[in-house]
Amino acid sequence: MPGLPGPRPDPTTEGYWLAAGRGELVIQRCTACGVHRHPPTQVCYSCGALDWEWAPHPGNGTVYSYTWVERPIHPGLAALGAYNTTVVELDDTNGVVRILARVTDVERADLVVGLPVEVHFDPAGDEIALPVFRPRRARA
Ligand SMILES: [Zn+2]
Repeated sequence: MPGLPGPRPDPTTEGYWLAAGRGELVIQRCTACGVHRHPPTQVCYSCGALDWEWAPHPGNGTVYSYTWVERPIHPGLAALGAYNTTVVELDDTNGVVRILARVTDVERADLVVGLPVEVHFDPAGDEIALPVFRPRRARA
């Protein structure tokens, strides 16, 4: 989003942001026990292993929690007007991966807990992007 400072990737998070910049959602997964985790960390909080990989994820999830922000916390967000900050629980991660993001293309009355959503990406620099979500449309 123009005017809004982007993330500052570090060696642990860089793969996440770069994948988003390519239009892909990846989630850290422990190669010892297979548990997904987010946000990225060096150590598996399930088994303590240090080895991990980026696992591609199709980006479907459901709204776990949300709030609407009436006063932007940064001038770069002012153009949005009221915006939501939402916790999205990703499908097929045993309920352990919840991403703090924004749901776009949604009216206030339609953003509810349990709403099925899908990822898309908001560019945040030359190579990186922020995963954001929008309501998942029923497909014929
Ligand atoms: Zn593990």
